[in-house]
Amino acid sequence: MDNNLLCAVYSPEDFNNRGHKLIELLTQHLDEKLNEKSAQAIQWNEPDEELRFWKDFLKNGDEERLFSEITKRTTYVHHPKYIGHQVSPAAPITALTGMISSLLNNGMAVYEMGMSSSAIERVITDWLCKKVGWDTDSRGFLTSGGTLANLTALLSARKAIVEHDIWYEGHVSNLGVMVSEEAHYCVDRAAKIMGLGEKGIIKIPATDNFEMDTSLLEEKFQEASKKGVKIFAIVGSAPSTATGIYDDLDAIGRFAEKHEIWFHVDGAHGGAAIFSPKYRFTVEGIERADSIVIDGHKMMMMPTITTALLFKNGRHTLATFSQKADYLLTQSDHEDWYNSGKKTFECTKNMMSIHWYTLLKVYGEEIFNQYVTNLYDLGHLFGELVQANSDFILAVTPISNIVCFRFIKNDMTDEQLNILNKNIRRHLLEDGEFYIVQTTLRGIHYLRTTIMNPFTTEAHLTALLTKIKELAITL
Ligand SMILES: *Cc1c(COP(=O)(O)O)cnc(C)c1O
Repeated sequence: MDNNLLCAVYSPEDFNNRGHKLIELLTQHLDEKLNEKSAQAIQWNEPDEELRFWKDFLKNGDEERLFSEITKRTTYVHHPKYIGHQVSPAAPITALTGMISSLLNNGMAVYEMGMSSSAIERVITDWLCKKVGWDTDSRGFLTSGGTLANLTALLSARKAIVEHDIWYEGHVSNLGVMVSEEAHYCVDRAAKIMGLGEKGIIKIPATDNFEMDTSLLEEKFQEASKKGVKIFAIVGSAPSTATGIYDDLDAIGRFAEKHEIWFHVDGAHGGAAIFSPKYRFTVEGIERADSIVIDGHKMMMMPTITTALLFKNGRHTLATFSQKADYLLTQSDHEDWYNSGKKTFECTKNMMSIHWYTLLKVYGEEIFNQYVTNLYDLGHLFGELVQANSDFILAVTPISNIVCFRFIKNDMTDEQLNILNKNIRRHLLEDGEFYIVQTTLRGIHYLRTTIMNPFTTEAHLTALLTKIKELAITL
């Protein structure tokens, strides 16, 4: 059997050659996008057109153009006019740590397959727990995304709170989780995966400001109890995805303590506010949580996908995927902190801890404060710009860097305005100068922006509003 291809694949010279060219390409990409030498934040293609291109490219495309075509045909998250979804413009240095992880490919399931990255993960999660305000009994680990981390946390909660050993014996009673109607859909999905069913998801209505109405907690708890549903956990959003509004974590935490249920904080987006002295108030009470999720790839400048799941009581990290008996064993003197696979959903995962550690080592903790604080400041500024402009209305005064608003006109009904705003967003996408998204809140269609780029300025935001107004007149 020939091995010429295999020799080519593993040629160090070839890697060096392509690697240097790729760095040149990505450097140019960064410069063009960050510094707006490229006029567009996205060059939109319809899905079928994109599919045709890549089918054809496999046969006829010039290999030399492969990486540049991939790069070109993306949404430019480093462009200051990218103001859309919540993924960060990855800190360029984390592209390098991503390369290290990919090449070294230590799969992390057991300590031996990732010695440095396992120890580094402990350093990082201990540091995060300390920032939350917890003591040295707290522990955490890194996992692949907020969705998986929320599911893992709820599994831990069920293991810790419910006396019956579901892991071993299966369900025997009705269990429930309390969560705001505004929470990310993945919490609902997690509860469904856990077999709680619709009756096991106790949705707490939100206030006019889209935060969980904590005045209803007691009533909802009693209502569920009467129906025979045993509530074992409550989830607070920090903040909720659609509006960027934080739940009152302190109030939820006190409620959870009173009823001896698990308090989980979904801080996938804004848990990183623990780094901002100015915005720390948004997560007041977070230290009351039993578990917390913080995404690295949202408000911490890391590449997709890396999420911290933190536990106030470290014993729970090892209990999630074990039987009750093993659970007690983990209280023994020898703590098996270094074998990742026992704690995570994943067996193999990438060496994600090195992104966190490298940013911390090279730039210091202050970088996370600067990122969060600047972006939340921009969110507030944009809120003020919208408010001051009579052609627009805010869904809610922003607290974070997520801002929902819509174009309005006096003589139009809500339904007509919904259609108009949908059209505006569609035209913006096809135009490509700006990239923003959209959401529907209580039947009203809004344009939705998340300011993720610290180099987005007031001028960009004003230009966006002007562009929308000009567009709306033509529709
Ligand atoms: C983004 C988000 C999630 C999902 O996290 P992924 O990392 O995308 O899986 C969950 N909850 C909230 C509040 C989020 O903003």
